[in-house]
Parts: sequence; C-alpha cells; structure tokens
Amino acid sequence: MGKCPGVILVPIGEVDPVTIAWLKEDIPKILPANVRESAPQSLSPRHFQNDRNQYFADSLLSDLSSIARDENTLLLGITGADLFSASLNYVFGIACTGRALISTFRLRPEVYGMPPNPKVFRWRVVTEGVHELGHALGLPHCEYPGCVMYFSNWIGDTDRKSPEFCYRCRRRIEYLDTVVKRKEEV
Ligand SMILES: [Zn+2]
Ligand SMILES: [Zn+2]
Repeated sequence: MGKCPGVILVPIGEVDPVTIAWLKEDIPKILPANVRESAPQSLSPRHFQNDRNQYFADSLLSDLSSIARDENTLLLGITGADLFSASLNYVFGIACTGRALISTFRLRPEVYGMPPNPKVFRWRVVTEGVHELGHALGLPHCEYPGCVMYFSNWIGDTDRKSPEFCYRCRRRIEYLDTVVKRKEEV
C-alpha cells in the first residue's frame, strides 16, 4: 500500500468505548492507517423501524456523509444498535465508497446464548470493521473463506475468517491505490 489512508471512527448512539479502543489498536496492524476518533453522532429515531425493532443501516450510512473527509480518509461508523438493510433481515455492517458502518449488536456472544467473551467479541468487531473498510476502499467480496473480505452470511462465517486480507485482496488494494494515484497525476 503506497499511501497511508486515514480512518475516522464515528460512534453512533451509545457505543461501548472498549470497542472503539480495540478498533484504534487493531486496524493499523492490518491497514497501515492513521486511526482517530470523531465526536459521537446521535442515533436518530428517524431511522428506527418499530415493527422490526431495528435501525435502517442504509440511512445511517448516508448520514455519515455529513462528516467532512478528504479523498484519502475513510469513515467508519460504529453502533450498538441492531441493523437491517434493503434486502437483508440483519447486517453486521454495510459500506459504500469512502464510508463504512458496523453494528456490534450481533457480534456479542450473548446474543447467541453464549457467555460473554471479550476475546471472541474483539475478533468479530475488528474483522467486521476491516471488512467494511475494505468495501469502502473499493474491494468486492472474496471467495476465499479465510479472507476478511469473505461475505459473512451468519456469525459462523465471521468466526471462521481472519481480520487479515488474503494475498489477492492485498494486491487489489495496491492496484486501487495505483489507479487513484494515476487519476491524481492526470
Ligand atoms: Zn461485505
Ligand atoms: Zn481475499
């Protein structure tokens, strides 16, 4: 990776501060990025859907566009709220170019009737955070189940993969970086 991108962590609503600390510490080990934290955003009740008891991920993600960022900076929203998306009953996160969002709700072992486990929870938070940042960088899903860019259909997929990019995805990031640089040179 040529350029060192910036990542701004944006807590949305009430977020366990320990999850922010984990992301700050672990993301730079995988993506050579300068990770910092912004002021928290409120979790707007406009995006809450009563009958589902969930928030609409797509509108939370588009709200992030109100935060100023330069071309090399990625935004990562973190919420403790349960999220759904247009065609999915629930999502661990979503992303578009430059912006990403994760929910820690379904990453807690307690949600699956298991005892709390900070080690497992941290692995999941970082894996999903890096996955969505990968999308924000322009990466598609990867077919290799051990790669962070593998699609998580359920929590078992997240637990099986690693927070790291596979060799091919690393190459893709380098390629995208070159494309951006070329655009800048023109
Ligand atoms: Zn994905
Ligand atoms: Zn991959």
